[in-house]
Amino acid sequence: MDINEKFKAEIKTESGLKRILLKGIIDEDTDFESVKKSVGGPLVVNFKGVTSINSCGIRTWVNVMKDLAASPVTYEDCTPLIVRQMNMVPSFLGHAKVASAFVPYVCENCEAETMVPVKAESFSNGNFTVAESMKCTSCNSGEMEMDGNPKQYFAFAK
Ligand SMILES: [Zn+2]
Repeated sequence: MDINEKFKAEIKTESGLKRILLKGIIDEDTDFESVKKSVGGPLVVNFKGVTSINSCGIRTWVNVMKDLAASPVTYEDCTPLIVRQMNMVPSFLGHAKVASAFVPYVCENCEAETMVPVKAESFSNGNFTVAESMKCTSCNSGEMEMDGNPKQYFAFAK
């Protein structure tokens, strides 16, 4: 696969707010130059499209965040993959605020998996208001349980 094909940073500006949509694989080949050029105003980083990240990619992103130190940064649509990095490597989150994340659920009956989007209100200030289980919509008989417990999953939100 071509280096330029496996990662893409799409930059959109809506009413003065810059939103960067990261897509694909973040690793040693990832070039965040276009992201660094956005230094200045407030920035929203959307992680929904990131499919994988390795330790080199994490290090590179941590450095990007250092370069963005003067810019208010908001993370949105943090998938379980990104949540894991934020919990393991606090500087991955750095000075950014998390506006929204996905919570993984697994059905105990049919093993169907789903991800439910939640807003920061559901995991801020030690108040976890995310559902720990819900009815499975695949088999219509099992309960979908949250994969992990809220306190651990949202450990980054201290
Ligand atoms: Zn099920």
